[in-house]
Amino acid sequence: MNNSLKHIEPMVHHSQINVPYTWWAGDTAGRFLKTLRDEQTIMGTRCNHCARVTVPPRKTCPTCFTENQTWTAVSDQGTVVAFSVARRQLAALVKKVPVIFALIRLDGADTALLHTISQVDPAEVTIGMRVRACFSKDAGATIMAISHFVPTN
Ligand SMILES: [Zn+2]
Repeated sequence: MNNSLKHIEPMVHHSQINVPYTWWAGDTAGRFLKTLRDEQTIMGTRCNHCARVTVPPRKTCPTCFTENQTWTAVSDQGTVVAFSVARRQLAALVKKVPVIFALIRLDGADTALLHTISQVDPAEVTIGMRVRACFSKDAGATIMAISHFVPTN
């Protein structure tokens, strides 16, 4: 091996790419997101076979795989079932760190919704904590129509 190549530092080039795209949300997610935007209401689907309520809604029940679903509103309050704290400001994070990501099971739902919790010290977040949704009218028909969740007590 040529000794002159042993101690060469790897060349690193920092850059960013811009990848704009359009994505059709579909009938189920579209209705969920429009209801968030227009009514500040969180909707799920109740399976007419097993009665599980899925939030965000699914066209097909994730438990029994039937498409026989009924739309139902769930509470804007729920319970933290899991959480993680992002402390490094990666480019993909829209919010300033620390960002508390949480799985929140809303009252009336059998599944958990992934979102963020704000206005609390990350060290104070616990599994079982009660939270409520704060809505944003500026976010359009996106999941960010729920701006974040806050502790209720
Ligand atoms: Zn089912």
